[in-house]
Amino acid sequence: MENNHLQNWINKRKERRNSLTADSLVDRLRNGDREALATAITLIESTRSEDLKLANAIIDACLEVKNDSIRIGITGVPGVGKSTFIEAFGKFLAEKQLKIAVLAIDPTSQATGGSILGDKTRMQELSQLKNVFIRPSAAGQTLGGVARKTRETIHLCEAAGYDIIIIETVGVGQSEIMVHSMVDFFMLLMLSGAGDELQGIKRGIMEMADALVITKSDGDNSKNALSAAKEYAGALHLFPPKPSGWTTPCFTCSAIENKNIDKAWEHIEKYISKTHQNGWFSANRSKQDQFWLQESLKEMILADFFQSDAWKNEYNLMENKVTNGEISAFTAAELLYTTYKKSRK
Ligand code: GDP
Repeated sequence: MENNHLQNWINKRKERRNSLTADSLVDRLRNGDREALATAITLIESTRSEDLKLANAIIDACLEVKNDSIRIGITGVPGVGKSTFIEAFGKFLAEKQLKIAVLAIDPTSQATGGSILGDKTRMQELSQLKNVFIRPSAAGQTLGGVARKTRETIHLCEAAGYDIIIIETVGVGQSEIMVHSMVDFFMLLMLSGAGDELQGIKRGIMEMADALVITKSDGDNSKNALSAAKEYAGALHLFPPKPSGWTTPCFTCSAIENKNIDKAWEHIEKYISKTHQNGWFSANRSKQDQFWLQESLKEMILADFFQSDAWKNEYNLMENKVTNGEISAFTAAELLYTTYKKSRK
């Protein structure tokens, strides 16, 4: 009995300490303390359950802070010019006295331990600016995990007063879909190529884009870039109308010569105003909230399933049976799930 009492007291103190720390961190990050913001993000990225508890308290507190932020997704194949574009675009926005956060989702870090987005020194000038916060992708997690944590980090940045949240990802598949489901405006950067432009990019990704930007439109490449833009603009006409009521523009830009960086912003402003008027902006954010609720739930259920060693053994057994052709993948899944359900009762 005494022990219980003591444990309760310790738990209560722990809770109080945690909530105090969460409160003080939130206070500090709301007051523009970048170190506090970075610490809070590190807690979100942690796998320790104590840290995550604290992180959840921080996120909840941050959600209460109202902010009219704009979330912009930027994607494109490696080498298309994402970081150069973001550097120019970020500087352009910073001159407008806007606060900018740049977050990255790197789908390669989990597989290779390295990263496409993080290795080189990127956006050096932008990172020096007072109103700019740049955070590379969390490492060592599944893409779903990295994406979910980035989505949570958006809330922190918004509470910290960032007006523009840029989420950058490499265009290699699933990661664009994740980014698309956490931003208001999704921008696809593309290279002008030799004739076969339309084949390189998946149709689905093009269809999701709210703007197609042909990069490196300078010097000898200007002409190619312009004709690529024309070709893509033609292709865009073939897509069905967007539920947002927005017509996707296609234009060229040169980040190195600072050409048409303002155009990108003009389009975003128009898009935001239009979708605020027609209700899409908030409807889309609600839909995204629902999506992330489901994603988080799925992740928790999966983690719960795979956490115990008993399950790992059972799973490996079934996996062997499936790969040996003894039973179908579907039957194995059903058997595993039925036993799992029984074990939970
Ligand atoms: P990322 O991998 O998509 O982030 O691409 P980077 O921004 O690192 O750019 C890849 C290469 O393209 C670098 O050598 C850049 O200097 C070059 N590049 C980027 N933007 C432009 C541009 O507007 N014009 C020209 N000529 N080169 C560019």
